[in-house]
Amino acid sequence: MSGVGNKPTNFIRQIIDQDLASGKHAEVHTRFPPEPNGYLHIGHAKSIVLNFGLIEDYPGTCNLRFDDTNPAKEEEEFVEAIKADVNWLGYQWKELRFASDYFEQLYDYAVELIRTGKAFICDLTPEQVRDYRGTLTEPGRESPYRERPVDENLDLFARMRAGEFEDGARTLRARIDMASPNINMRDPTLYRIRHGLIHHQTGDEWCIYPMYDYTHPISDAIEGITHSLCTLEFEDHRPLYDWVLDNISIGCHPRQIEFSRLNLEYTVMSKRKLTQLVQENRVNGWDDPRMPTIAGLRRRGYTPESIRAFCDAIGITKSEGTVEMGVLENSIRSHLDAVAPRRMAVLDPLKLVITNFPEDTDEILSANNHPKDESLGSRELSLSREVYIDRADFRETANKKYKRLVLNGEVRLRNAYVIRCDEAIKDEAGNIVELHCTYDPDTLGKNPEGRKVRGVIHWVSAKHGQSVEVRLYDRLFRSPEPGREGDFHDDINPDSLKILTGCMVEPGLAQAADGERFQFEREGYFCLDSVDSTPDKPVFNRVVSLRDSWGGSNEN
Ligand code: ATP
Ligand code: MG
Repeated sequence: MSGVGNKPTNFIRQIIDQDLASGKHAEVHTRFPPEPNGYLHIGHAKSIVLNFGLIEDYPGTCNLRFDDTNPAKEEEEFVEAIKADVNWLGYQWKELRFASDYFEQLYDYAVELIRTGKAFICDLTPEQVRDYRGTLTEPGRESPYRERPVDENLDLFARMRAGEFEDGARTLRARIDMASPNINMRDPTLYRIRHGLIHHQTGDEWCIYPMYDYTHPISDAIEGITHSLCTLEFEDHRPLYDWVLDNISIGCHPRQIEFSRLNLEYTVMSKRKLTQLVQENRVNGWDDPRMPTIAGLRRRGYTPESIRAFCDAIGITKSEGTVEMGVLENSIRSHLDAVAPRRMAVLDPLKLVITNFPEDTDEILSANNHPKDESLGSRELSLSREVYIDRADFRETANKKYKRLVLNGEVRLRNAYVIRCDEAIKDEAGNIVELHCTYDPDTLGKNPEGRKVRGVIHWVSAKHGQSVEVRLYDRLFRSPEPGREGDFHDDINPDSLKILTGCMVEPGLAQAADGERFQFEREGYFCLDSVDSTPDKPVFNRVVSLRDSWGGSNEN
């Protein structure tokens, strides 16, 4: 875990410290190896911050490598989105690589394995292979093709590449041990035939594709990776990772180290499920602000700093667990608390007329942009005879605990004067449509003497304010572990998006720049939506509420 200003320490850093101290390595070379079959999510951020973070503190480099050995699911769009997300998080790779860059070398090493009797062409069907593999309690059975002569294997492998055989007719398999207690070591498949696919890098050049477990160690070794960091589910694959490198003449053997993946409550992170949410229009695309994707979090208003701080806070360990959504939210909340300028916005406007305020006159007031950081400066605010306050900030009667406006009571309009409510105007149905108040001109910047003011409420000048749309987001799923008791679709929260129209904000806010974030006082942190907002129809996203509302009732 890391403390403020301290370097994080974890078991991986301890291993690296030892490797540098012993002289095993002079530099640290890591890589982040996404498969371009979807957008990156907050779990990937954990891996990115780990891999790129190491080389901020140690001499060395980090590559971005696309693990693109399955053209059926991979697309150029994802490649570009992943590059943008890694950059946005604040990192620059040393080299951009694709596992497909190594297809020719991978093929040559496969030929080498065949020559040394370590791999063979198997004619079993996929079903037969599964049947021969055995189970956790039963050893597997050897393929009848396991003793095929080397020359025949070489010939068949060349013809597989040349496209002579159809999909599934043959595979190249490692020749290891069908009785191994580790099923991954039971003569795993190294290559399979896949016709008719257009690979985003290599086009239709290949009709055989290497498997991940074969490709990954060799790609790492080609790039001179020293520490190959991956998640715990690959622990059982490590013997195969090592076997591949021990049995070819590559002369480099990275060390695979596993750490636990990030799981986050109330969301899903498997790319398969995220893809479904997008394709079934359960959300509005990969960058929907409710998605746990980096693109979604960015559009929601998260900062790269807050995501990095979150990753530092959860730390790197080998123990599996699920992190509360509140931890992620706290990271953006504390960052924005420190840096976001304050503004006033009224989400549910109720008109308030200051009857003793001169008509057709504006008074220019000054308001600090931040209560603690003077460097954020101040701004001018125009007060006029008609303002909007939030409907929730008025009650006809209330007890003393209610620190807002009541009939015949006084509150301060934030950054302005103390007002008293004299009358609540109602429509025929009895709904309050307007408040009539008087202000005390003697209360700018000072309290009235001998009278108690209940509290401070925010407001927007009716004449100067601008009408905007505001989007409030709630968790995307209703259960902490979606799909735990069945289909994850059943746990989707139908009320995860609330759209408010006709909200009133201070002038100038609608011209905010992309990526500018604000605290709407007493409401939360907000930013302009980078996709749907236009100067004529501004749309604000709520990044996060002011307080953690996840434990108790939701404040909306
Ligand atoms: P999925 O199972 O959702 O498809 P993946 O693990 O296959 O995810 P990759 O693109 O292969 O996704 O992942 C790239 C890197 O990010 C890998 O090293 C992987 O271990 C790591 N990674 C993916 N998800 C997480 C997570 N939730 N926490 C930490 N690291 C992760
Ligand atoms: Mg994967």
